[in-house]
Amino acid sequence: RADIAMFRAKELGGDNYKFYTHAMREQLGERVQMESALRQALERREFVLYYQPQVDIGSGRIVGMEALIRWQHPEMGMVAPGRFIPVAEETGMILQMGAWVLRSACQQLRTWQCEGRRNLRVAVNVSARQMAERDFVGSVADVLREAGLDPDCLELELTESLVMNDVEHAIAVMHQLKKLGVKLAIDDFGTGYSSLAHLKRFTVDVLKIDQAFVRDLTVDPDDAAIVTTIIALAANLNLQVISEGVETLDQLSFLREHGCYQMQGYYFSRPVPATAFGAVLDENEARLAAGERVPLGVA
Ligand code: C2E
Ligand code: MG
Ligand code: MG
Ligand code: MG
Repeated sequence: RADIAMFRAKELGGDNYKFYTHAMREQLGERVQMESALRQALERREFVLYYQPQVDIGSGRIVGMEALIRWQHPEMGMVAPGRFIPVAEETGMILQMGAWVLRSACQQLRTWQCEGRRNLRVAVNVSARQMAERDFVGSVADVLREAGLDPDCLELELTESLVMNDVEHAIAVMHQLKKLGVKLAIDDFGTGYSSLAHLKRFTVDVLKIDQAFVRDLTVDPDDAAIVTTIIALAANLNLQVISEGVETLDQLSFLREHGCYQMQGYYFSRPVPATAFGAVLDENEARLAAGERVPLGVA
């Protein structure tokens, strides 16, 4: 891609050429720098996983959690994934990073299970590059075996754009993952480019409603229409549905009234480190024991 840009810059001639090559060299330099910073971060164990509970509103119980990566940078402090995942994708570092995330999340869940915390599943985000890897399914199987985890405790979150990258390959991989026994979710559902015809062929278990639709759910009739349509679509296709980005009781009530019983969002808890997640689970148990059906926010 750099070559093409260089060629175009040359066509413009003169000062433009210098300007473009300089800007590009800088950009390239930044990317190389970021790549080596990410590589170092892996070696120095600067990445941590945060966990955010997924709640079943019917029972009031935390039924799982999504693992979300954070970069604990020695100078910059806690860096959100939005700032480094795109670079990790571009440079290919996402492969090592993704493998680390998958292994860590599975081991962590196994640890919680051994502490007697049952009936929990962990959701892990998967990038397009991982999906395209030669033996992605084999590596998932290895991680599960090494962690001693039941495949149905693992949910992989795929995005529509990931799947649309190479539909036929993605569908083949989804079939293999299903055969392995892991659960599959379409993340940020409704924001991508997949068609309903494709959705029919995806062997997914869960549609995850994007927070962009949930945000103004109670004030924007268009968002309300989109959300109720996704809930109905999931029901008609026999899929589970979960909403992300639930922040208020009004949003919760709307979703419940319209048949979405699984939710994730700041209303329940922000993503927290593994050490703090145990307390979130304990509090959920305590509230249920006290007879509370809807666990109130702890954010
Ligand atoms: P996502 O998978 O859609 O994750 C949900 C994001 O929404 C998370 O942001 C979460 O902290 C945030 N969130 C949760 N509840 C609420 C809420 O009530 N309100 C608002 N405003 N936000 C909420 P986060 O952790 O910054 O992650 C951003 C994105 O980065 C993720 O979006 C995912 O696409 C990507 N990501 C995170 N961890 C990983 C990873 O391990 N691997 C890969 N490939 N991508 C990851
Ligand atoms: Mg996700
Ligand atoms: Mg999402
Ligand atoms: Mg999202």
